[in-house]
Amino acid sequence: MATDLLNTFRISIEDYYRAHKRSLPWRKDEPVPYEVWLSEIILQQTRVAQGTPYWEKILAAFPTVDALANAEEDKLMSLWTGLGYYNRARNLQKGAKQIVSEFGGEMPATFEELLTITGIGPYTAAAIASICFKEKVGVVDGNVYRVLSRFFGIATPINQTAGIKEFQTLANAIIQNTSDAASYNQGIMEFGALHCTPKKPLCMMCDLADICSAFNEGKVDQLPVKIKKGKRGSEEIHYAIVRSSGSIALRKRGTSGIWAGLYEPPRLQAAPKNGEELAPAIVHKLSHKDLKCHFWAVDEEVLDEPITYYTKDQTADLGMPIIIANLVENIKI
Ligand code: SF4
Repeated sequence: MATDLLNTFRISIEDYYRAHKRSLPWRKDEPVPYEVWLSEIILQQTRVAQGTPYWEKILAAFPTVDALANAEEDKLMSLWTGLGYYNRARNLQKGAKQIVSEFGGEMPATFEELLTITGIGPYTAAAIASICFKEKVGVVDGNVYRVLSRFFGIATPINQTAGIKEFQTLANAIIQNTSDAASYNQGIMEFGALHCTPKKPLCMMCDLADICSAFNEGKVDQLPVKIKKGKRGSEEIHYAIVRSSGSIALRKRGTSGIWAGLYEPPRLQAAPKNGEELAPAIVHKLSHKDLKCHFWAVDEEVLDEPITYYTKDQTADLGMPIIIANLVENIKI
């Protein structure tokens, strides 16, 4: 790729960022690495407007890496309830413990060292290293794939090894000549989020339109290319809703699998013969499958395991999948 084209693109992105950047609480003149890390983990799979209140309340509860490392798991999970992808929270805490034990509680300052932390992959390491420590390593997230594939006209699938490598190499090549790695990396993500959007990108008012490959070849709606995965799976879950004296029976899930470590009502093998379904089944969509959840009002005798009861107030401090949190909130206990 011609260096001139890379530079023109980069300078335009940096200009865009200076003119349009959103004011976000972790975007500071002197960014705090822990705050940036927290924001990047929360914003994976979550929009800024939805994620920001979570960032604020988790930071208020655990203001330092050390505090997060020592957090009670249930407390962290209860603050995370509603964000989904609970492994992100568990890995965040594992990472914090590792930073305390291996780096004296200070976030490591290089891309390579950041990559050694649990839960920090190439994207997050590049974001922290460039935003906080000015390292010239390109971020590649969904927004970046879209912008680069359209502008440079690259049709290599973005969800296969060859594409992942090609886009990372290009991102690293673009950032090399900058004097402001933080603005370029944040700029291309912001440009993808607000301007070169998946649907209805603002091509008619785009400074790059004259030299944008996809725009000039009429391929904007064909890029980026993503290979479709196989059919989604589905699973039926039957929950036993057992209530007693203003309390509801919940159990904590094991340490692996979907919703590990979260609280939910006991599960039944199948629909009970003498149960009353409390509400229509709810379909909860995970990234790879649909969970169809049924809620049965049953007596304690149908359960074959010891159970613990919680009052509504006590459930406020427990981490729960969002559908369970909503159920507990809305049913009469
Ligand atoms: S012209 Fe359209 S497709 Fe090309 S970079 Fe601008 S917004 Fe994106």
